[in-house]
Amino acid sequence: MRMYDIIEKKLNKEKLTKEEIEYFVSEYSKDEIPDYQASALLAAIYVNGMTLEEITNLTLAMAMSSDTLDLSRVKSQDKKYVVDKHSTGGVGDKVTLIVLPIVASLGVPIAKMSGRSLGFTGGTADKLESIEGMNIELPFDRFINQVNKISMALITQNENIAIADKKLYALRDVTATVSSLPLIASSIMSKKIASGADKILLDVTYGSGAFMKTYEKAKKLAMAMVQIGKQVGKETRAVITPMDQPLGKKVGNSMEIDEVIEFLTSDEKALDTLVSQDLKEVVFEVGAHMIDLAGLGSDIEENKEKMKKAILNGNAYNKFIEFVKAQDGLLENQVPVLKRRVKYMSYLRASKAGYITKINGEIIGKTLVEMGGGRKEKEDLIDYAVGFNFNKKIGDKVEKEDIIITAYYNDIDKYEEIVDMLEQAVEISNIPPVENNIVEVIK
Ligand code: URA
Repeated sequence: MRMYDIIEKKLNKEKLTKEEIEYFVSEYSKDEIPDYQASALLAAIYVNGMTLEEITNLTLAMAMSSDTLDLSRVKSQDKKYVVDKHSTGGVGDKVTLIVLPIVASLGVPIAKMSGRSLGFTGGTADKLESIEGMNIELPFDRFINQVNKISMALITQNENIAIADKKLYALRDVTATVSSLPLIASSIMSKKIASGADKILLDVTYGSGAFMKTYEKAKKLAMAMVQIGKQVGKETRAVITPMDQPLGKKVGNSMEIDEVIEFLTSDEKALDTLVSQDLKEVVFEVGAHMIDLAGLGSDIEENKEKMKKAILNGNAYNKFIEFVKAQDGLLENQVPVLKRRVKYMSYLRASKAGYITKINGEIIGKTLVEMGGGRKEKEDLIDYAVGFNFNKKIGDKVEKEDIIITAYYNDIDKYEEIVDMLEQAVEISNIPPVENNIVEVIK
């Protein structure tokens, strides 16, 4: 088989066979195919797409390209289904860290691997590392024992899981081929299949803070991933959620952990008023479907009530603290100690009175990267403390000079760039915006 012929076939919009896809994935994983040929194929897939059969074959080839996790020791304990949760990524997306302790406190076993930041979106692993001492590189035995003991453990993506995806993702990142449906679907599903869970809940985001900019594209992606799950015998459900602005009130690693704590310690009034309602909607939708998939209740509205109770009676927060402690995170008076030393604070103020009609998530994410809160290169160190507080969100009415965003940062030389970028991210209009917040479940 020749890589040249495979590239030519895809350039001519022809369908690749299972053998051709497997050849590409296995040879590329072994460094037998040069990056320039792999890039050409990625670009051809980006432009000409793939059929569902091709995407499924690509997914399986990547999932099998290296180790897979065996979670049977979790399952044998209490016979519940292990449910994995994955978001297609977003700015301010801290849903995983809120949902997991809630559903774990209700009996859903959580054995999760999470990634680091990708492009302009944040990563759960980095957010957790903003807690002093937090260890997210547990050996496998300790990981499984912890799930069996406290129902929840979270580690970073194992080096040996879906190696092909790791290599291809890095190549996509530098060849502008990330935002391709077949490539995203196979990237996500290969990791989920290799991670060993029985069932998969996907949070497929759309809007300016997500990879899929429109609802229609997100729906296509969700449908493809649910189909792949079916083909490989893992029940997969997708919740399509809006991400047209950063999710919640805070963006930045340690700041997002603050928001997680605030959410999990809410009382009834705070849940209805203080916590960000866009975040709340996604948390409850995702969690309720995870409880259903785990076989612990099929009534989605009832599951949301159970989640609310778990927050109000303190069980969800206690689970979060138990989890942080189990993974060596430092606590002071039952509160995680965060890396949060920032020197400077600046405001973006309203240039006129009106309604906020846009807070572009991608620009906010890129500004965070510029401030050191995300990575430009894989090896970059993160400044966990920098971030934003959103004093206003889309739809809010503002007067001239009202504070819209508060930025916290450490590099004063970045001041002008930060202010410039934030100004570009926000729009104010005399007319209130039309709401664009469809949430849909694909089974
Ligand atoms: N998340 C992934 O894991 N892979 C992608 O390609 C995009 C988002």
